[in-house]
Amino acid sequence: MMRAALSATVLLWAAASAASACEPDALGVARVLTLKREHARYGTAQYGPLPLQKGEVVLTFDDGPVPGPTDRVLQALAAQCTQATFFMTGANLAKYPELGLRVMRAGHAVGLHSFAHPSLKSMPAPEQLADLEQGERAFVGVFGSAPPAYRFPFLEETAPVLAVLKERKVTVASVDLGIDDWAPNDMRVDTLVARLVGQLKQKEGGIILMHDANGPTADALPALLKAIRDNGYKVVSLRWEDGAGPITH
Ligand SMILES: [Zn+2]
Repeated sequence: MMRAALSATVLLWAAASAASACEPDALGVARVLTLKREHARYGTAQYGPLPLQKGEVVLTFDDGPVPGPTDRVLQALAAQCTQATFFMTGANLAKYPELGLRVMRAGHAVGLHSFAHPSLKSMPAPEQLADLEQGERAFVGVFGSAPPAYRFPFLEETAPVLAVLKERKVTVASVDLGIDDWAPNDMRVDTLVARLVGQLKQKEGGIILMHDANGPTADALPALLKAIRDNGYKVVSLRWEDGAGPITH
C-alpha cells in the first residue's frame, strides 16, 4: 500500500512539474481522439479523412527516433505542452530503444513506419513481409506491444503488407498535408512555416506530416508550433483502444 501511495505521489509531482514547464499560452491539446482497432485507413492524400472538426490538426513525425533531432522535437513539443504521433522505423528503434521509450513516456503516441524504410513497391512480396515482421519485432522489443498504426514508407501502399495489417487490425495512417521537409527542398525556418500556413489555409486542418529525424524540421518546430497556435488551429492527440481484437464488455 505504501508503495502504491508513494508512486501515485511521484506521478502527481511529475505531472505538475511537466505542466509548470509549459510556455504561457501554450498550444496544448484540445482533445484526445481514440481510434478503434479496426484497420481503418485515414489521410486524404490516399484515403478518407480522420473524424476531425474544421481547424483541428494532428501532428505526426516520421523516420525517427534519431538522437539530436528527435530530442529537440521532444523539447519543442514539451514547451508547448502538446502531443504528437511518431511513426518510427524498426531500424532506428533497434539502434535507439531508450529514445523510443522517451518519446512514449513523454505522452506521445507511437506507430510503425517499416523496418528499413525501403521502397516496398520495388520488392517481391516475401521481402516486403519480412520488412514488416522485422519492424514489428523491433517495435514489440521496445514498447512491449504490437504497433496500433502503420505508415507506409513514401506512403507507398502495397497489397501484401496491407493484407497483413488488415488481419492485425492495424490503422493505416496517411496524411492530409505536409511541409515537404526533405532534401533537396528549401528547409529554412521561414520557408517551412510559410508552407505549413499555406497548406493549413487550403485544407483547414488535418494530419500534418513532418520528420523528427530531420535537423531542419527540429530547428523549425518551435516556429511551426507557434504558427499553428497563432492561426487558431487546435491539436488533437491520437490514441488507440487497447488490445488487438474487438473490445468486449
Ligand atoms: Zn518516412
